[in-house]
Amino acid sequence: MGWEKLENQPAVSKLLQNSLAQGRVAHAYLFSGPDLNGKKVAARLLAQAVNCDRGRPCGSCPSCNLITAGSHPDVELIEPEGRFLRLHQIKALCHRAGTTTLVGRTKVYILQETEKLLPEGANHLLKTLEEPPADTIFILFVQHKQVLLPTIVSRCQQIDFQPLPPAVIVKRLQAAGCNPERAHLAAYLAAGDLATAQKWTEAEAVTRKEQFLQLVRKLPQGKNIPFEAAECFAESPEYFLPLLQAWYRDLLVWHAGGRQEVYHRGQEKAIADQASLYSYRKLVSCNRIIDETSRLILGPHNVNVRLALEALLVQLIPAAK
Ligand SMILES: [Zn+2]
Repeated sequence: MGWEKLENQPAVSKLLQNSLAQGRVAHAYLFSGPDLNGKKVAARLLAQAVNCDRGRPCGSCPSCNLITAGSHPDVELIEPEGRFLRLHQIKALCHRAGTTTLVGRTKVYILQETEKLLPEGANHLLKTLEEPPADTIFILFVQHKQVLLPTIVSRCQQIDFQPLPPAVIVKRLQAAGCNPERAHLAAYLAAGDLATAQKWTEAEAVTRKEQFLQLVRKLPQGKNIPFEAAECFAESPEYFLPLLQAWYRDLLVWHAGGRQEVYHRGQEKAIADQASLYSYRKLVSCNRIIDETSRLILGPHNVNVRLALEALLVQLIPAAK
């Protein structure tokens, strides 16, 4: 029981095991890339390894059991509150880092989605990383490390996680009972991340996808449709924007003659009809605008989501060349 749980990330597994064997455990790690599931497993194994009663992640001592259950008092997982990792969360965390361990040997703080740090929080964290407290390991999760302060990145040992191939994700989802069309779209929307792919097969995602298809098929008509769609999409941009990205990517692929690779399988007729309304150049520009707006809305910015979506959707009408 232990490192084999990290079989999808062999390079990460080897690197962490070597550091532990040589007693070279860093004060801070930056786990970057996709595969949230893999990152959580790696963070848990590292936390177990430095606290295990048997000196390895045995998975069965009281310490390992508490960590597996998420109830070890010295091992904490910090998640964003809503859209941001807030200053008060970081302050509280850095304060606890400065105290002694409660039951274990090493405190481990795992920060999820560090791209959601606000500037004051990032600066506060940086100060703590510059003078790391004793017996403490920080593990920062991020998808793209480019969005973090370079000074934070340079204070951490960087560990890159590889995206899982779509075929591996499709296989896992189908093994869990998901239908092939749904698994296919989920695997591509997830960009190499199994936990994200699973989210895309759940009931809410399925409902959102139905709403999305109804609206996006009518979008080229213009008139009030872009505004109706913006109102709906603003409720859950984290679902609708990736669907929109995948849809316009499909229109572009179809326009270029690709027939096998569409992400929205089962929608080929609607994709063909809609692709014929656009020029190739217009579709390239639609894809670019969707990317830019998605980064703006889903990133750590305070934007008026509804207005940004309205501005985006009116630009996707084919007549507005
Ligand atoms: Zn143990």
